[in-house]
Amino acid sequence: MKIESIETMTTRLPILTGEWRDTIHHVTHIELVVVDVTSDTGVTGTGVSHTSGSGAKTIEAMILELADFLVGKEVHPKGLWHEAWHFLHDLGGAGLTTTALGAVDTAHWDLAAKAAGKPLVDVLGRTRDRIPVYASGINLGLSTEELVEQAQRWRANGYRGFKVKVGKPDIAEDVERLTKVREVIGPMPLMVDANQGWGPELAPRRINGLRGLDLTWVEEPLVSDDVSAHARLRTQVETPIGVGENIYNIFQFRDYLVSGAVDFVQADVVRVGGITPWVEIAALAQAFNRPMAPHFMMELSSQVLCAVPNGWIAEDVEGGSLSALKALRSPHRVVDGYYTPGEAPGHGFDFDREYMEQHRT
Ligand SMILES: [Mg+2]
Repeated sequence: MKIESIETMTTRLPILTGEWRDTIHHVTHIELVVVDVTSDTGVTGTGVSHTSGSGAKTIEAMILELADFLVGKEVHPKGLWHEAWHFLHDLGGAGLTTTALGAVDTAHWDLAAKAAGKPLVDVLGRTRDRIPVYASGINLGLSTEELVEQAQRWRANGYRGFKVKVGKPDIAEDVERLTKVREVIGPMPLMVDANQGWGPELAPRRINGLRGLDLTWVEEPLVSDDVSAHARLRTQVETPIGVGENIYNIFQFRDYLVSGAVDFVQADVVRVGGITPWVEIAALAQAFNRPMAPHFMMELSSQVLCAVPNGWIAEDVEGGSLSALKALRSPHRVVDGYYTPGEAPGHGFDFDREYMEQHRT
């Protein structure tokens, strides 16, 4: 079975639950680059890359460069990934190149699974039938009352954990907000996310200032490129550290793990280059006894989490799942705080092409 054609569609979908604000972002739209890879046997696999509002056209251009390289090759997702990564490597082994690869690799796996007539999770090797999901809000801009309402809503919906943005100028305000959320959720896992907003002097003070809240992790306390600063910080705080949404290849994750600088590995299945490298990173993390808690992409992350031994929890960013963005004709639901992969062959994403066409760029 050979690749016959690769086609792309880039859309800019509004976030329907309202704009997002954290220490460094102001996001109103999610861009999706959808890739259709069709085989000479007439089967089409689909993949998708995402951005937080800019860069999709560049990613699409890179995918089209890759298309010329890939058409005519056998559909062997693992082998193709490594060939394609080397093909793009002169442009950088991490970042834009891997984000472009993310859509293509996912399409290859979807195609291979459809050709085999099996759900993606069974082609990858199922380790569990469902995965817990936590609710996550880009909510630094919400008032304390609005934040409490959001936590109440999430709790009522059955989520298995909760994540809140931190980084108010006054630590007392972060403490007050989190204390109120803790009252709502009781002993369930509570995580916080600083979005790289602190420096190495401020981070340990801020994190130790949140000590009484029994946080499961503090996410991205520092700029994500600085592994040694995270390793030093880890010796200064008791709270576990989550990092990974802005780390793009296995070598960077290795450096974090060897340095003891990360507790929860948050590799984004798209940004690292797709399912092939994500599963490799999960195996690396397993060797360090570290759980996978991937960033974003709730529907796809949940499926790959069901195919590794160290899958811990998936993230459902309010308004940010493919389903919430209305990108899928049949939404994939979190039920009682769990995502269960479907029985359809492939990943089961039925993109709403009509809706996406309305937002095409
Ligand atoms: Mg984050």
